[in-house]
Amino acid sequence: MKTAVINKGKEQKYLNHYPLVDEEDIYEHSHLADGDIFHLVMDDGRYLATAYVGRQHKGLGWVLSYDAEQLIDEAFFTELFQEALDYRQYYFNVDGTNAFRLFNAEGDGIGGLTIDNYDGHLLVQWYSKGIYAFRDIVLQAIQEVFPYTSIFEKTRFKDDAVESGFVTGTAPEFPIIIEENFTFYNVDLDDGPMTGIFLDQKEVRKKLRDVYAPERHVLNLFSYTGAFSVIAAETAVDTTSVDLANRSRSLTEENFGVNGIDPKSQFIYVMDTFDFYHYAARHNRVYDTIVIDPPSFARNKKKVFTVQKDYHKLIEEALPILNEEGVLVLSTNSSALSSKAFKNMIKKTLDEAGVDFEIEEVMGLPKDFRTHPHYKPSKYLKVVFVRVSSKEVII
Ligand code: SAH
Repeated sequence: MKTAVINKGKEQKYLNHYPLVDEEDIYEHSHLADGDIFHLVMDDGRYLATAYVGRQHKGLGWVLSYDAEQLIDEAFFTELFQEALDYRQYYFNVDGTNAFRLFNAEGDGIGGLTIDNYDGHLLVQWYSKGIYAFRDIVLQAIQEVFPYTSIFEKTRFKDDAVESGFVTGTAPEFPIIIEENFTFYNVDLDDGPMTGIFLDQKEVRKKLRDVYAPERHVLNLFSYTGAFSVIAAETAVDTTSVDLANRSRSLTEENFGVNGIDPKSQFIYVMDTFDFYHYAARHNRVYDTIVIDPPSFARNKKKVFTVQKDYHKLIEEALPILNEEGVLVLSTNSSALSSKAFKNMIKKTLDEAGVDFEIEEVMGLPKDFRTHPHYKPSKYLKVVFVRVSSKEVII
């Protein structure tokens, strides 16, 4: 068994079950290759944990067990998958929803691996070469434990030699239509990095339909396939979807279609968000609810957008087209920005803009996106609902 010695003074966080092995905490790691199992030990040789090498972002790998005798074999994965399945019994029994996460990486015990269920069609995502090295036994264990019609996979690390796609079972014809909170969405598990829907936003979508869309004009920025628009349209006066990508128009129209909503009754713009702000202001458009859910990083022509540097501009420029008593739904999935930092940025921006506001709601991940109690970045999703009650008259 390979070992890695923790630098003196760095043991405590691992004793406290921090699951990510930080390269900088290890005395020497040049002998560790992707997919290796190793024992983390203290400098006096005492055992701390068993981990695997799977390089992602800053981390060298993930802790898998605190039992020195534990073998990392098929039975190990089977046991964790069974536990994950038991934890999600609610989602298998709830009406109106047939898509949810079955296994959420470190939250369920294996960093770097997620499994989603789209109405019986499973999507396995591998986040590093290291976890991919366990592919055969992981796929065996998945087939043993989870009910499925078909299994697909995606690699989320760079390696031209490995392919994403169909693994086993009876492949459906894509798009399939999944249901979530009695709303339908098209999904394709075999077409690029995204599937058509982000399952982690399901409670936010529901909240939008039930509380923040009724009788309102709703604007959805960075709308992608229009998931927020489609559920909002069930109760809203109308919805407006804005996304830069050409494909977003047809994908959004199709999502309206599978819900029996005439796409022509809604507004869809293929446009840069900032250009849309100017366009809407010029045309005196105002919205009662504005959903802002940008990617953490985006490039349009020469402009680069990052959540940390630029989110405040999205808020400032939304204000001129927000109605009195309007609500901003501000979302980010950036784990680089803590919930506190995100809220502080929102407050500072609105204070400086001279508006009265109230944070009405803060939401995060749903239960199927189980998080790790000792690893804060696993709670990456932050959604803040802010009511902007009055604008000061600027003299
Ligand atoms: N809010 C969506 C997911 C957004 S994914 C949902 O819940 O389903 C990010 C989207 O932002 C992509 O579709 C991308 O095309 C779009 N995008 C990136 N930069 C943009 C920009 N400057 N203006 C408008 N859309 C942009």
